[in-house]
Amino acid sequence: MKPKDVIVYNLEQALEAGGCPLCRCLAEATKRYLTNLLYEFVNDPRTRDQLRAAGGFCREHSWVLQRMGDPLAHSIIYADLIDAFCTELDQTSGVLRGGPSLLGTEKERICAVCREEAAMEDRYVDGLLGALRSGAFRDKYRQAGYLCLPHFRKAYGRNRNKEERAFLAEVQSAYLSGLSSELKEFIRKSDYRYAHELPGTERDAWIRAVRFWVGPQDLEA
Ligand SMILES: [Zn+2]
Ligand SMILES: [Zn+2]
Repeated sequence: MKPKDVIVYNLEQALEAGGCPLCRCLAEATKRYLTNLLYEFVNDPRTRDQLRAAGGFCREHSWVLQRMGDPLAHSIIYADLIDAFCTELDQTSGVLRGGPSLLGTEKERICAVCREEAAMEDRYVDGLLGALRSGAFRDKYRQAGYLCLPHFRKAYGRNRNKEERAFLAEVQSAYLSGLSSELKEFIRKSDYRYAHELPGTERDAWIRAVRFWVGPQDLEA
């Protein structure tokens, strides 16, 4: 399959699984990327050189990687990073100097996983917008689709076609009016007069609302 077709295929699978299809595809792609990285840390000294030069990963991705396990890869990575840090501390011994440094703050460096994620996100947003031009994909999207707010902003903002924007907005509004009704139903049942009614699908709408508004936690989809 061509890379473009793989993206469309993954998006179709994600639509069937539910939730924001872009979040799901990106979580899967990031997991694959991290699995490969863990393998490379153990087997490829160049990958470790690059990581040392980058000063490690951002906080979020360091913990995602830690939760994936692999004590050996982590021991190799952190022994490397710590030694490089101590060497730098030794050499500079209080002298301030410019340029990239392990003593610099996290904001001064770019995490390799963040960079890869941003590139993948661009590819997937473009892939989704392209796929929505096909009638069959559109039907699937209409039935199961909506995007989390950060991805909706991206896809909607990037699309310049009036009709396609209207389609995205229509599907999004249908999803959101349902979510809003569920939240209101939850509020209604919280009133003591209706508290005897059995809880329905609205019971976890508050969690879905957070997930919609900011995207999922870590790599959950
Ligand atoms: Zn999303
Ligand atoms: Zn990161």
